[in-house]
Amino acid sequence: MISFKHVTKSYDGDKKAVNDVSFEVESGEIVIFLGPSGCGKTTLLRMVNKLVHLSSGEIYVDGQSISELDNIELRRKIGYVIQSNGLFPNMNIEDNVMVVPDLLKWGSKKKKARYNELMNLVGLDPKEFRKRYPSELSGGQQQRVGVARALAADPPLMLMDEPFGALDPLIREHIQDEFLEIQRKVKKTILFVSHDIDEAIRMADKIVLMRDGEIMQYGTPSEILMKPNSEYVSDFIGKDRAIKMLSLHTIQELNDDIGLLECKEDIADSKQIYLHADLKNTLSMLLNQEAEQVCVYDDENKIRGAITIDLVQQFLHVKLGKKRNAVQEAVVTG
Ligand code: ADP
Ligand code: MG
Repeated sequence: MISFKHVTKSYDGDKKAVNDVSFEVESGEIVIFLGPSGCGKTTLLRMVNKLVHLSSGEIYVDGQSISELDNIELRRKIGYVIQSNGLFPNMNIEDNVMVVPDLLKWGSKKKKARYNELMNLVGLDPKEFRKRYPSELSGGQQQRVGVARALAADPPLMLMDEPFGALDPLIREHIQDEFLEIQRKVKKTILFVSHDIDEAIRMADKIVLMRDGEIMQYGTPSEILMKPNSEYVSDFIGKDRAIKMLSLHTIQELNDDIGLLECKEDIADSKQIYLHADLKNTLSMLLNQEAEQVCVYDDENKIRGAITIDLVQQFLHVKLGKKRNAVQEAVVTG
């Protein structure tokens, strides 16, 4: 667990880049520091591995104050990934991934095995890339190598500063999904900086929403979407709150909450839709469909019921707890 207690940083003058910030992060969670450029996200992140020194307050990692820890010892427990991947251009991929194990003086057999394991984990062929140089790789591949390198010595904590920010949107979504898949396997505690609300909603267990060095709201994506605590937070979420909300829930959850309808007739030419589909994709499919209802399948291809635009709307009413036509809001603004 990581505890931030009254953490404050002023670089110079009176202006505080981070101002009296306190919150806690549970082990194994992805917590995203979210907010506009200049609000203090990077500063807050870099205080954890002491690349930036605290002006006052304290940060505890597993109960131990970081000010009592030696920098080298602390950084060994922390993987660090940045936007401009930070790979060494003059080192081949294997040497890049093995930078920390090298420092830790691992034997060559152990290193080779770990290199192979990590490259497979991030979806790159170990053999194919071993002797290549960073400049020979695409942006997405370089970021994967950056992630592999940060994971090399199996640190319990990862700091990631807009790691996918430089990638184009389609690749970014893909690599976000891959990264979540990796996280399901490795279960690290991850502090992740982003200015992109969609990325935060997609990836975060909790969001720290910041403005001018202060925390405006700390909560799960769903809490922040459902109960924004201020106009600032609502504005940051934007007008398509309902549609963002839908992307957080699946047909399965709708079924658990309010139940599906009876499937009257399976329309042969309609796209198949599955219980695990998210409701944003479901709505978009329903809107493109002539039929009034679409039958829903489980993973064994058994029909489990039917879904309609109306039903999605009812679910949103329950979640957002209001009578407004939330689907209309979603469609008009989304
Ligand atoms: P973010 O990552 O949210 O864009 P930063 O943490 O980089 O924000 O910056 C927060 C504030 O601190 C900004 O006003 C920025 O100009 C200032 N700042 C950041 N780094 C330094 C530095 N090394 N020296 C002086 N001011 C800095
Ligand atoms: Mg930053």
